[in-house]
Amino acid sequence: MDQLRIESEFEGGNARLIAATSAEAELEIVADKDAAWSQWFYFKLCGGKGRAVTIRICNARATAYPEGWPGYRVLVSEDGERWQRMETDYVDGRLILHCRPQADALWFAYFVPYPLARLEALLDQARRAGAGVDILGHSFEGRPVYGVTVGHGPVPVWIVARQHAGETMASWWVEGFLRRLLSADPLAAKLLREMCFHIVPLANIDGAVRGHLRGSASGLDLNRQWDTPDPERAPEVAAVLAAMRQKGCAAVFDIHGDEVIPHIFADGCDMDPTATPEQRVGVQRFKDALLKSSPVFQVAVGYPATYAGSGAQAMCARAVAAHFNAVGITLEMPFKDCEECPPGAVWTGDLARQFGHDCLPAIAAIFEL
Ligand SMILES: [Zn+2]
Repeated sequence: MDQLRIESEFEGGNARLIAATSAEAELEIVADKDAAWSQWFYFKLCGGKGRAVTIRICNARATAYPEGWPGYRVLVSEDGERWQRMETDYVDGRLILHCRPQADALWFAYFVPYPLARLEALLDQARRAGAGVDILGHSFEGRPVYGVTVGHGPVPVWIVARQHAGETMASWWVEGFLRRLLSADPLAAKLLREMCFHIVPLANIDGAVRGHLRGSASGLDLNRQWDTPDPERAPEVAAVLAAMRQKGCAAVFDIHGDEVIPHIFADGCDMDPTATPEQRVGVQRFKDALLKSSPVFQVAVGYPATYAGSGAQAMCARAVAAHFNAVGITLEMPFKDCEECPPGAVWTGDLARQFGHDCLPAIAAIFEL
């Protein structure tokens, strides 16, 4: 029988084969370039059709967030497009998957991938609907950092997604949010008269292509660079911040995924002791409205006030909020199954997209629109 093969040399791929037989494959997750973070994996299993196969990800305990593995279930797909969760064991620091492939290949990923081709299709849809699609700057490796502008109103609102490359749920969120803005939705039509949305759908494009969890191609956590971004090592952040200075910023939403916490939550600039009463009210309005507009949002569980320690001041939602006297909110979605999912529903890209759609009324509520 043929030996199993593992492929990961494609956009966003991440896995290194250690050893394989016809029935077992041992792999490890590869750390981000010039950094110690690792957790994102995305690979294709070839061979094994019709046979019982065991895959072991052997260095799971040595990844950035080992607390993220208990209770986590891997995403699997037969065609690379439709993904579902599969039973996953975490034993002795290793992730163990048992499957019986019904096709010549099976894809496995930490969360549902979001291909660049899908982003390009979304940008085309935005262009056709009359939105502006610009290149705000270029990444460390020279790839475009896109900005989408929708709306004609005086209130500038910024959305930043995928500073952490492996947090692909942020891209699904953007798709749901932007599609609602581009649709005939009455609330969207009203907000486009009152606001101007500036959306950065893929801030860390180098990391997304390379299959990183968190780091940029220069080895930085981009979401710790917003106080004084180095234009050489963090050109992605420097470009977005320059555009914010040009357009203004009344509110910023930074879209993320969290490896450990099985809930959706918002971490607001109100956690900053220097936040103004207006900023605190804005965050509270957002949370109150989102509890009504989304069945999966909750406020009981989130980050402690001490999250990110001394690095907190350089996070997008804190630094931009402070600089522009804006409302700043980091939105976190889980990699694990979301405990607030309705019965029968599974937390994948589709629900993240629905959550993006459902966030629009909460943004309106900040400005009492
Ligand atoms: Zn993140």
